[in-house]
Amino acid sequence: MAEVLVLVDQVDGEVKKVTYELLTAARALGEPSAVVVGAPGTAGKVKDSLASYGAAKVYVAESDDAAGYLVTPKVDALATVAGQASPAAVLVPATSEGKEIAGRLAIRLGGGLLVDAVGVNADGSVDQSIFGGAFSVKAKASQGTPIISVRPGAVEAEQAEGAAAEESVSLPAVDAAKAAKITGVEPVVGGDRPELTEASIVVSGGRGVGSAEKFEVVEKLADALGAAVGASRAAVDSGYYPAQFQVGQTGKTVSPQLYVALGISGAIQHRAGMQTSKTIVAVNKDPEAPIFEIADFGVVGDLFNVAPQLTEEVSKRKG
Ligand code: FAD
Repeated sequence: MAEVLVLVDQVDGEVKKVTYELLTAARALGEPSAVVVGAPGTAGKVKDSLASYGAAKVYVAESDDAAGYLVTPKVDALATVAGQASPAAVLVPATSEGKEIAGRLAIRLGGGLLVDAVGVNADGSVDQSIFGGAFSVKAKASQGTPIISVRPGAVEAEQAEGAAAEESVSLPAVDAAKAAKITGVEPVVGGDRPELTEASIVVSGGRGVGSAEKFEVVEKLADALGAAVGASRAAVDSGYYPAQFQVGQTGKTVSPQLYVALGISGAIQHRAGMQTSKTIVAVNKDPEAPIFEIADFGVVGDLFNVAPQLTEEVSKRKG
C-alpha cells in the first residue's frame, strides 16, 4: 500500500488534535506515516499516540535547531522523506504554518497543491469549500505528489492500530534554515482556553458586542462551555479583541463541533472561516442578519440578555 506522509503538529511533545485528523484522512489514500520534526526526545513523547491513530511508520527528524526555527526544517524533512518514500500524498494542517509549509513543499517537489481540504477521498481527490463556502468542489492534483492542506476540525479523528516503526531522517545542514529563529514565546490573552483552531467549541463576538470591556460577556460563555474565544474582523478592527482571534477569510479558519456567533452579521468573509462548523448557533437582534441563513439554531434577541442566561444555564448544568 502506498505511504501517505502526515506532518505531526506538536508543541514540546504535545500532539495537536489536527494531527490525528490528518492520520485519519490519510487512511483514505494509503498507509499513514507520521513525520516528526522537533527537539531531541520529541518522538519518544509522541510515538504511542501516533500509533494509536494508525501511523505505520514514524519518520523522526530531531535536532536542537529543528526546535528553534520556523518552517524550513519541516519543509526539509518532508522533502527528504518524500524523496525516499515516493508517497501517494503529503498531508499538512491548513494552519498559517501548515499553509506556508505546503506551498514551499509543492515548489520543492513539483507537486500539485490542494489547499484547505475539508475531505480526502480514496480516488485522490479532495473536497474544498470555496468562495466563502458558496460552492463545494472536488479537486485533484494532475501531476506530481499532491500536497494537501486539511482544515483543522474538518475530519473526525478515529483511532486505528499502527505499528509506528521508527526511522530517522537527517536534516540537510542548510544555512538558509537559520535565517529565521524563534527567540521567545509569550503566552497570549486567554492562555488557559483551548487554541482557537483546535477547540471543539468556539464562541465568537462581533461588532454587536460594542466594546472591549463588554467582550467579557463572550468570554464568560466561552469559559462556561470550555470553549475558545473568536472575533469578527469588525470586532478586531474596532479594538474589542486581539487580531490573533479573528475568524474568517483573513483570520483563522475553524471547524468546531459548535460555533456560537454573538452580535455577528454573517458577512461572507466571516463565514469563510467558520461555516464548516458542525452546529452553528447565532444570537443577533436583527432577524434579517445573514448569519441566520447558515445557523442551525438562531435566537433573535439582544446578546446581553441571551448570552448571560445561556452562561448561567450551562454553569448550572455543569455544577
Ligand atoms: P457587523 O456587520 O457590523 O454586524 C454586527 C451585528 O451585530 C449586526 O448584525 C447587528 O444586528 C448585531 N448586533 C448589534 N448589537 C447587538 C446586540 N446587542 N445583540 C445582538 N446582536 C447585535 N470579517 C471577518 O469577520 N473575518 C475576516 O477574516 C474578514 N476578512 C475580510 C477580508 C476582506 C478582503 C474584506 C473586504 C472584509 C473582510 N471581513 C472579514 C469583514 C466583513 O466583510 C464584515 O465587515 C465583518 O465580518 C462584519 O463583522 P460583524 O458581523 O462583527 O459586524
